[in-house]
Amino acid sequence: MKGGKLIIFSAPSGSGKTTIVKHLLAQDDLNLAFSISATSRPRRGKEKHGEHYYFKTLSEFKQHIKNDDFLEWEEVYRDNFYGTLKSEVDRLWAEGKNVIFDIDVVGGLRIKKKFPDQTLAVFVKPPSIDELKIRLKKRSTETDEKINMRIAKASVELATAPQFDKIIKNYDLDIALKEAHDLVAEFLKV
Ligand code: 5GP
Repeated sequence: MKGGKLIIFSAPSGSGKTTIVKHLLAQDDLNLAFSISATSRPRRGKEKHGEHYYFKTLSEFKQHIKNDDFLEWEEVYRDNFYGTLKSEVDRLWAEGKNVIFDIDVVGGLRIKKKFPDQTLAVFVKPPSIDELKIRLKKRSTETDEKINMRIAKASVELATAPQFDKIIKNYDLDIALKEAHDLVAEFLKV
């Protein structure tokens, strides 16, 4: 695998990284395409196969692991596997795009390690764990149990922030969006 650049946005669930990634995808000057991950978790709300995720059964996912189809994969929550298929990155590079990822911290750092020079790894920091709770509850797409699981994980994830190339504090969304755009534009120039 070779090709274009890789832009990683990792953060605890509810930090606003998905909003930032969507904003960046809409900026034509950056020439970005979204890496659609594979997951074994159930589909939520209006999510579509092949757009938000490639939804897989647990056994399909495990077969991909056996076949060494993943650039990285992770059991992000119990029985909920997520991974980046090598074929997905190849597909987007073949289109001449820079690839942007919305993935968990472990996966993000793994890709950075594999492609150190081609990758910009950004950590999005939420204002606080309490604010994270409020945001996840507002989203109301998950049960309390699942929300609590995500919050428990957030503290561990926050500790990995210093390993990223850049940290964006998402306290004010407009400022965070501008900062994200400037960081990525600068990296793509090099
Ligand atoms: P969600 O279930 O909210 O869509 O995602 C849960 C977590 O899994 C998020 O932190 C998301 O960034 C992460 N995730 C999504 N795709 C991937 C992937 O391909 N690999 C890894 N390691 N994490 C992923």
